[in-house]
Amino acid sequence: MLKITRSRKVLMNFRTLIKLFAILAIATALIWALIVFVYKPIYSVTVNGQFLGYCEDKTEMQNRINDYMDNGSGENVAFVEINDLPEYKMCLLKKGIQTNDDEIFNKVISQGKNYYTYYALAVNGEEKLYLKNLEEAESALQELKDKDSANKDNITIEEKYNTELATLVAKEDAVNQLYVEKKPVNDKILIASTATNRSTSNRISTSTKVSKGKANLGITLIEPISGIITAKYGEVSGVRSSSHTGLDIAAPKGTSIKAAASGTVVFAGRKGSYGLMVAISHGNGVQTYYAHCSKLLVSVGQTVSQGEVIAKVGSTGNSTGNHLHLEVRVNGQSYNPQKYVY
Ligand SMILES: [Zn+2]
Repeated sequence: MLKITRSRKVLMNFRTLIKLFAILAIATALIWALIVFVYKPIYSVTVNGQFLGYCEDKTEMQNRINDYMDNGSGENVAFVEINDLPEYKMCLLKKGIQTNDDEIFNKVISQGKNYYTYYALAVNGEEKLYLKNLEEAESALQELKDKDSANKDNITIEEKYNTELATLVAKEDAVNQLYVEKKPVNDKILIASTATNRSTSNRISTSTKVSKGKANLGITLIEPISGIITAKYGEVSGVRSSSHTGLDIAAPKGTSIKAAASGTVVFAGRKGSYGLMVAISHGNGVQTYYAHCSKLLVSVGQTVSQGEVIAKVGSTGNSTGNHLHLEVRVNGQSYNPQKYVY
């Protein structure tokens, strides 16, 4: 009799336990259903700790911002620099509360800095006027050659990257403004004498003579990038027709190039086999060149401080891979960069 009672008691306890489990399971399911029904997962977006709003899809938002930085919007915009990028945090938000993706996007891009690209026509290295694209610049130059303009051999095209868009002129206006009628031979002496008056500090030299010596720069240079040295100064190779006037340092495309010393930008544009290049004058005839860049971040006349990012590594011009071609020049003469840095 006693035994029966005990086994019945155990059975009863077991049933209660199952009931309890069932209730718990149903309750959990209900709570989840409630959460899914009332809330949805969403991203809270902040920039520099400042709350901007909520966005639906963080990947989509970041892709949209990346795309804007790569291409910008509007004519002649090369790319856009945005320093403060958003941070995303996942959270649950009550359904019905509006996300403001467009507003967030607009706020983020509003602090972007546009870099414009356009083309300068320069006479004897001095920029005279600007055109909106390379085709127009080339076509204007061709027309000046066809018209046998007196300055036709001194005109160069320079690619410009700048945070401000220059006043652009139409191709026809460019031709009219730059055309110089050929004068009798006598006048050539006058033209030649005025041409030599230009200041030498703002000119860059592409002389290919290498020097074994070491000039005193009077300044200390820092490494513009860190990377692997792939070609030393003075080396002769099949890629070049003469000795190497600089030092090649290989690095991935887009690597930031820092100014080796503070100075003034005297050239920023495309220069034949150098590709996209920056030249900085450090005073006393000392200049440093940064060639084969993919992007230029400075413009002529700008002062830069040592370590400031001036361009991005690339492979423009006569180059077979992404690298920085660094030159140190004193009064136009190149010197071995490794005597000063690396
Ligand atoms: Zn080189």
